[in-house]
Amino acid sequence: SLSDRLGGVFDRLRGRGALTEADVRGAMREVRIALLEADVALPVARDFVEKVTEQAVGQNVLRSVTPGQQVVKIVNDALVEMLGADESELNLGVTPPAVVMMVGLQGSGKTTTTAKIAKRLSGGAGGRDRKKVLMASLDVNRPNAQEQLAVLGEQTEVATLPIVAGQQPVDIARRAIQAAKLQGYDVLMLDTAGRLHVDQALMDEMKAVADIAKPQEILLVVDSLTGQDAVNVATSFSEQVPLTGVVLTRMDGDARGGAALSMRAVTGKPIKFAGTGEKLDALEGFHPSRIAGRILGMGDVVSLVERAAETIQQEDAERMARRMEKGQFDLNDLRSQLQQMRKMGGVGALAGMIPGMKKAQAAVDQAGGDKVLLRMDAIITSMTPKERAKPELMNAKRKIRVAKGSGTTVQDVNKLMKMHQEMATAMKRIKKMGGLKGMMAMLG
Ligand code: GDP
Ligand code: MG
Repeated sequence: SLSDRLGGVFDRLRGRGALTEADVRGAMREVRIALLEADVALPVARDFVEKVTEQAVGQNVLRSVTPGQQVVKIVNDALVEMLGADESELNLGVTPPAVVMMVGLQGSGKTTTTAKIAKRLSGGAGGRDRKKVLMASLDVNRPNAQEQLAVLGEQTEVATLPIVAGQQPVDIARRAIQAAKLQGYDVLMLDTAGRLHVDQALMDEMKAVADIAKPQEILLVVDSLTGQDAVNVATSFSEQVPLTGVVLTRMDGDARGGAALSMRAVTGKPIKFAGTGEKLDALEGFHPSRIAGRILGMGDVVSLVERAAETIQQEDAERMARRMEKGQFDLNDLRSQLQQMRKMGGVGALAGMIPGMKKAQAAVDQAGGDKVLLRMDAIITSMTPKERAKPELMNAKRKIRVAKGSGTTVQDVNKLMKMHQEMATAMKRIKKMGGLKGMMAMLG
């Protein structure tokens, strides 16, 4: 998997602060392979990797994750950003009828998706909105294509334009618009013919229809299993008609979702829906983070890094490391460690190197976890800044005051002070061993 690959690339990097250009380039070779395996078109993968390399170089590696994991997260975020916003809706805010035109290769799922969208808009047979929708098939190439849509219309309880034999697509389009206007439809869905491959006859037909119908939306329907050909398809269609969005079908299959990235990169248009089955309600909004997870196949790593990023403040970690170098550890340090313990549900990697910290964790767990941590936090909060920075100031009188202020007992305060004392001693020991670096060297 990508994570194994990146693990190999980054093994020699453990413990370094920032990602260097050489490191990132090494990792990006692996990312590029992962993208290609997920069916992202080659030029798109190449551009993407170039862009992400720039972003990644110089970024600090969060502690408690490996550099490889950090890179996966950076790649993931870039993917999500590039894939665009969640759930972009159809733009139907015009004087009715709003025309939605479906284009794409034969078998990509145009007719099915036409019915799915119509159903969703009309509220018929369990749909969501309440628009009056008319569907018309302009496919005069495939035998029974118009009948196919009529059947889907019955199933979804959406009106279809009556079939007139022998009419050409442009004439059907004209008739559909007329009917939609006269009969007060809100939305007219135009299902067009496809071809096995992009060819000029198809493109000319599409342009002629678009000229007449002036669609509000022109949606390119693409099979998500389209691999390297995705760039050709997207380029040809977007050069000929002003696309407004993309629908990816067959997302229920084993497509890794790379076509989504290719489509987005080439057309620059939002992916508005994902088809997830043959049934007429198998249509979903588009969720970039889901697709990114599918492309990388690294959902676990991403959430791990997210958790680490949320809970560990990088500055805090750096500050902590500096204080460890100097052998310093006051009650502010203890408090920030306790707070992290609470958020992470355990000691982090750096804090784990303080001998007393593991013991503290065990004590906390034994005494009931969160509640104890909150109590310790309350005690430190009740101290003055001076007391926090100079724990030796805490005499009997001050302890009584702090116990009262925090709603605890002097015994509780003593326990906390003892815990702190042990850790501060450990810190001094670390300093004697040559600071954090010395310790790491000793640990190998
Ligand atoms: P068109 O030639 O572009 O109009 O494609 P059709 O709408 O006729 O669809 C071709 C085939 O793909 C049909 O058997 C559909 O049921 C199927 N299909 C369409 N969308 C999906 C989808 O999202 N998932 C699955 N599994 N099948 C789909
Ligand atoms: Mg069709």
